[in-house]
Amino acid sequence: MLFASLLLADCLTLGADASAQTTPPVAPRHVVAITFDDLPYVNEGAKTPVQAAVAAQHRIVQALRCGHVPATGFVNEDKVQALGPVGSRLLAEWNKGLLALGNHGYSHFDSNDLDVAGIEREIVKGEATIRPMAATAERGISFFRFPYNHVGDTEARRAAIGQVLAAHGYTLAASTIDTSDYMFNTAYEHAFAARQTAEMKRITRAYLDYSRTQIAYYDQLDRKVVGRDVPAIMLLHVNRLNAATIKPLLELFRSAGYRFVSLAEAQADPVYSAMPSVATKYGPMWGYRWARERHVKIDGRLEQEPPAWISAAVGDAAK
Ligand SMILES: [Zn+2]
Repeated sequence: MLFASLLLADCLTLGADASAQTTPPVAPRHVVAITFDDLPYVNEGAKTPVQAAVAAQHRIVQALRCGHVPATGFVNEDKVQALGPVGSRLLAEWNKGLLALGNHGYSHFDSNDLDVAGIEREIVKGEATIRPMAATAERGISFFRFPYNHVGDTEARRAAIGQVLAAHGYTLAASTIDTSDYMFNTAYEHAFAARQTAEMKRITRAYLDYSRTQIAYYDQLDRKVVGRDVPAIMLLHVNRLNAATIKPLLELFRSAGYRFVSLAEAQADPVYSAMPSVATKYGPMWGYRWARERHVKIDGRLEQEPPAWISAAVGDAAK
């Protein structure tokens, strides 16, 4: 009850500042599906920060609900367990309305390092909380997203992964826009721990600028490779930075002429009908995979890197 009334109050507040900040409406020309990985919460430290997880989930879920934005949240079961009963309470918010649960494996495993039986164990153990939870709402779990987007470093593993997913009734979740949000978040967490509020603001601004650049970059990449506009799929993580920036992030899409759709609606486009057909040990966005499949020459150096001072801050945080 309390949560519901808070939701309503925050939606009203959102409406109030939205009228002040929102750019003039643009008739939507593109569609994007919003996805979050590493639910319930990315933990950067040794101790699981229950309060931070609750606060981040609250902000993200509210922004999505108030904005009527469909989204899919990909869950690591070990992160649910680390939060105790709070973990599944947070996930319940993703099991209703326009939000949906997806499987991201039991642990944040790297499929390049596991044999097929190990990959299958990760998929099945990853369902422990989400599969029964979805069933209570008469829902299924349709999508699996591999950690690091590693979907087969060799042809044999790539083919086996396709078979395992099919055997368990999953569609492979694609991703088309990457903003290296985990790097910006590491820098942001570091500044947060040191109570450097000016630095946190600077990182937030750089992150939103970089996100705007990447949304435009991947739009032109996909269009060049596929020869038409394709539904975009935004890859984000549930972390402190995205909790702080979710409203302006969504606004970036709106002002660039995007309308929000579910992952299922985005992936109904025929461009997503087949698994990636080229093996790679890396986790490139789908535009780069399509380029290899279609023999379209792409100069990856045209993609901007995050600012050097962000990379440096990530290096400092690791010390
Ligand atoms: Zn992940």
